[in-house]
Amino acid sequence: MAYAGRMTWRVAVAGIHIESGTFTPLRSRQRDFFTLRGEEMRSRYPFLSTPEFSPIQLQPLAHFRAMPGGMIAAEEYAAMKQEILDRLLGLEEPPHAFYFDVHGAMTVEGLDDAEADLLEAIRRHLPADAIVTCSQDLHGNVSARLVASVDLITTYRTAPHVDWMETRERALCLLLRALREGCLPALAYVPIPVLVSGEMSSTEYEPGASLYAPLAEESRAEGIWDVSLWVGYAWADQARSGAAAIALADDGERARAMAEAIARRYWEAREDFVFSSPAGSFEECWARVLASEKRPYFLSDAGDNPTAGAAGDVTDTLARVIRANAVWEKKRAVIFASIPDATACQLMHEAGVGATVTVDLGGKLDPVHGQALSLTGKVMALIAGEDAQAVLRVETVDVIVSAGRRPYHLREDYLRLGLDPAMSDATIVKIGYLEPELKAMARAHELVLSPGGVRADFWNLPYEQRRRPLFPFEKDFAWEPSALVKVGRKMS
Ligand SMILES: [Zn+2]
Repeated sequence: MAYAGRMTWRVAVAGIHIESGTFTPLRSRQRDFFTLRGEEMRSRYPFLSTPEFSPIQLQPLAHFRAMPGGMIAAEEYAAMKQEILDRLLGLEEPPHAFYFDVHGAMTVEGLDDAEADLLEAIRRHLPADAIVTCSQDLHGNVSARLVASVDLITTYRTAPHVDWMETRERALCLLLRALREGCLPALAYVPIPVLVSGEMSSTEYEPGASLYAPLAEESRAEGIWDVSLWVGYAWADQARSGAAAIALADDGERARAMAEAIARRYWEAREDFVFSSPAGSFEECWARVLASEKRPYFLSDAGDNPTAGAAGDVTDTLARVIRANAVWEKKRAVIFASIPDATACQLMHEAGVGATVTVDLGGKLDPVHGQALSLTGKVMALIAGEDAQAVLRVETVDVIVSAGRRPYHLREDYLRLGLDPAMSDATIVKIGYLEPELKAMARAHELVLSPGGVRADFWNLPYEQRRRPLFPFEKDFAWEPSALVKVGRKMS
């Protein structure tokens, strides 16, 4: 297909966006995905309406996006993949380029590199010389196999992620540059044998802050097109799980030098990755809450964080706080956010506000890490509809029960249920590091090393497929960065 001299280019776009782990029994299903089809997908890329992007004629196929969860059931992944391929084959004119819009840590039953599987299938249906660009979350596990199928790739530079939109824009800016210049940059990829969790690598703390801060400037250096650094995703037992650096540059040696320098910087900081907040068992964390005057005090029920892929209905921490509360002289006001349990939520809705009910809560999505907890309390608040929620007060513990798995990252998530973390002695939330609004509120924060599909002390999990050696599982080994380099090419 002729690229040179064109004024516009057809760019197909599709993706399955999920972070899903192998240590939870939870399975992700197609109904868990928010789906955009065809023209609906334009809402993901509002910047495309600016004159700068007018040369791009978007051919939106389908985009599936879900909250982090467990492995996708094989047949449900196959259905989503087939829909993308059918839509690609159904295009009236073949695309000049393809944008692969994904998270990068999707796990599917029976596949060890699901993104590569999907992109390879898409590639087979693209014209042979079509250019592929890709954007990812920095918690993606990028492999050599995936790199073989992309020409351009970029990733978030912040965690918590505030640059998701500009990352999408960057993926398409890189594409536009390649199309305009009629050439592809060299790509250097360095897998880094370090695996840390999100709780240890926020870019708001060291060493994440210093490792990510230079990337913007490095991507503007002479001869460089872009640079990317992945932390990876710890809760997938796969060979590709780990950190990686990629540089795109005018020539292979420049790309290699830059990617290896970024990778070396990450490797040298490996011992500095620690939890950004104090961590311990529930009892250790709770003793510190009781001894402190600081309010609001947040505790992360980190092992069962649904926004990192756990089920979210493990009741271990909830059971502990209710047991502890029962014996205190001075009851503490506690908010527990949350346990997803559709049956319990419906029962509370049927009983109504003010009713006393007994529910068997949780332990259904993830029966491996905990059991249902029988609780009797008063229904304090209800939200009806698709996103149904309820509050069960057990003595002075307000337990949020949601119909589905959902995050509680915003102050408004609490206020609309009549709860205010600012007025409670402690708010226990199924999260890892605090998202910006909660962080701004918190005067103290601790990580509870609780059981679940994404336990924070992941190095104690039974990995079988992971690469070896890999820090921190192995600590005593030497390593030198060595890039895999794909040369650039001129397009006809
Ligand atoms: Zn992420």
